[in-house]
Amino acid sequence: MTAKLSILNLKNKAADLEILHGVNLEVKQGEVHCIMGPNGSGKSTLVNTVMGHPAYEVTDGDILFDDESLIELESYERARKGLFLAFQYPKEIAGVTMLNFLTAAYNAHLSVKDPEARQLKAFRFRKLVLPEMEKLKIKPEFLDRFLNQGFSGGEKKKAEILQMRLLQPKIALLDETDSGLDVDALRIVSDGVNELKKETGMGVLIVTHYNRILEYVQPDFVHVMKKGKIVKSGGRDFAHELEQTGYENI
Ligand code: ADP
Ligand code: MG
Repeated sequence: MTAKLSILNLKNKAADLEILHGVNLEVKQGEVHCIMGPNGSGKSTLVNTVMGHPAYEVTDGDILFDDESLIELESYERARKGLFLAFQYPKEIAGVTMLNFLTAAYNAHLSVKDPEARQLKAFRFRKLVLPEMEKLKIKPEFLDRFLNQGFSGGEKKKAEILQMRLLQPKIALLDETDSGLDVDALRIVSDGVNELKKETGMGVLIVTHYNRILEYVQPDFVHVMKKGKIVKSGGRDFAHELEQTGYENI
């Protein structure tokens, strides 16, 4: 069955500030959607709210995954259903090595797929993750570092994509995963997304400021968000049009 994320007339607030003013969007497995728009228009708020960030209170509308409401679910329960968010600003986690973090995440993922599945010990998991890291050009010694601590912007974004590849979500939300990446890293990260999409039929929602990533990960739909609403949507060419016209007159 094709998984589907449906965002219906979503309104929310954080700290008494109304941010989203009725967002409608549907992302199916296999589709690539892109959300663009000026700073502060609510793009990160949207993806964080879909994932269940506690800072945001949904005041109206609904978020459905396969026609089931996610609103009452915790973030980890949403992840179990097959949603994944790559953060705009990945958190640094002192005291937890990347190896231990990824092993725990992978084991949690395994047990959702099969409650009987044997949990992998970190040393076995290391063998499994190294080829994935190689693909993303992340050096093996990163496994023994604390997660994201002292990582460059690009290294943090690659670590997010590594998590995504291990968890194999049905629908991935990528919040400005392209920012902070040089051209080579952008290509590597985009290949990581495209390959997983091809292998698993994952759906993707990319939040971005730039057309750059769209040269590598081809969107089927492009949406512009302004002041907490999606104000215009189009196909692949719409992103190029936007580059010429800007957001001003939309
Ligand atoms: P974008 O990702 O499009 O740049 P954001 O979603 O980060 O925009 O922010 C949209 C608006 O909501 C901004 O004005 C921001 O300051 C505000 N906002 C976002 N999160 C919070 C929060 N947790 N508390 C208060 N205000 C917030
Ligand atoms: Mg943002």
